[in-house]
Amino acid sequence: MAAQEQTRDVTMEKITSLAKRRGFVFQSSEIYGGQAGAWDYGPLGIELKNRIQRFWWKEMTQLHDDIVGLDAAILMHPRTWEASGHVENFTDPLVDCKKCKQRFRADLIPEDKLAKKECPECGGELTDTRKFNLMFKTHIGPVDDGTGLIYLRPETAQVIYVNYKNIVQSNRMKIPFGIAQVGKAFRNEIVTKNFIFRTCEFEQMEMQYFVKPGDDEKFFDYWRGQRWAYFEKLGVRMDKLRWHQHGKDELAHYAKDAYDIEYEFPMGFKELEGVHNRTDFDLKRHQEYSGKDLQYIDQDNGNERYVPYIIETSAGLTRQLLMILCDAYEEEKVADKGNDDDWRTVMKFHPELAPITVAVLPLMKKDGLAELAQEIRSELKHDYATDYDQSGAIGRRYRRQDEAGTPYCVTIDYDTKENGTVTVRDRDSMEQERVHKDELSAYIRNKIRNYKRS
Ligand code: ATP
Repeated sequence: MAAQEQTRDVTMEKITSLAKRRGFVFQSSEIYGGQAGAWDYGPLGIELKNRIQRFWWKEMTQLHDDIVGLDAAILMHPRTWEASGHVENFTDPLVDCKKCKQRFRADLIPEDKLAKKECPECGGELTDTRKFNLMFKTHIGPVDDGTGLIYLRPETAQVIYVNYKNIVQSNRMKIPFGIAQVGKAFRNEIVTKNFIFRTCEFEQMEMQYFVKPGDDEKFFDYWRGQRWAYFEKLGVRMDKLRWHQHGKDELAHYAKDAYDIEYEFPMGFKELEGVHNRTDFDLKRHQEYSGKDLQYIDQDNGNERYVPYIIETSAGLTRQLLMILCDAYEEEKVADKGNDDDWRTVMKFHPELAPITVAVLPLMKKDGLAELAQEIRSELKHDYATDYDQSGAIGRRYRRQDEAGTPYCVTIDYDTKENGTVTVRDRDSMEQERVHKDELSAYIRNKIRNYKRS
């Protein structure tokens, strides 16, 4: 380690280990050896996930007058997936190694190795490439004789398309308008490494925006701008984000134009979310397969009829959570004694995302300080997610809260008994300020509002 080193790199191993140690994310069914592609969100993880979801929901619905929400079922009529093209096209190209028996996605193997049919792991011979459909199948009804075939939805977009007419009619929506949904999606992914980056069960946050044909390019640009601005509000390091435009060979069969926002994860730049111009493909297909008229009737324009174009913003909630974990993670040198205590691990979450906003810590358990601290916590818990910790040296307790990403620690000491003041320790600067307990809630509110990452 260089003597002047003040920070250390983040790796996926460090993130995975902290996530488990602090109860953000656990491996699914760990006591049975784990289930590939599935993860469980622990006490801090569910708080973080809920807050990201709320942040996105507020951004998309509350701050956009023309977007409404939906929460539709995972199980859909199987014709949906024929219409969407998933039965035919939602496939990955797969190869197997005849020697080491590993399975790979052909599009992720270096071209020279694939051309020679050489296994990238052991050098053995690869099989021919086969198409593999990513949809999970199950059956509905009492007998499994093939008639009750049903899929676990592989994306949330289609539930929005099949409900579009209901929403136009029930809520008198006028084009342009959007529908937002957050929910689970399932894909039988073969390569699920990199922690929760690519999993078989995950959550998406999608918004589908319905526009008049011809207005699509204008709104496509608008939504690209909006989605970029969202990440600025989220307080992530913008120099770690970039746009990637899909080339002609990458574009999905339904797309006219598509951009991904990519984040620089420890394993490199990877897709975070997509903004796609899906044209009228989806609604026309559902019209054809269902036999229902899905045209929009523009009553303000002489009852003009058309099938709307759709601009989609499609984000992974669980992938965004991984991004937030990686982005927040810092190891900082805070002392110079030459041992591990010189370093602190701190999760610099935006205070609106932090699983715990305020931790209340009595300096001592005795002399009534613990009771006073509990009283102050009881007051604060109506406004904030709080934690209480009275065990161990105060420095250790601060470190524990740093690892959990708690932005504010309130310490109760003998002065609190004397004059009602407490110290508030700021996670990022580690500076402490004395504040009267009656002003504490407003003081914290103000700090959250003015938060800027250092
Ligand atoms: P990829 O090329 O990485 O497989 P995709 O282009 O198929 O992803 P979309 O279908 O556009 O992804 O899904 C939209 C978003 O949903 C992605 O940007 C990502 O954030 C999230 N997502 C997709 N697949 C997964 C998965 N298997 N695990 C976690 N998140 C996912």
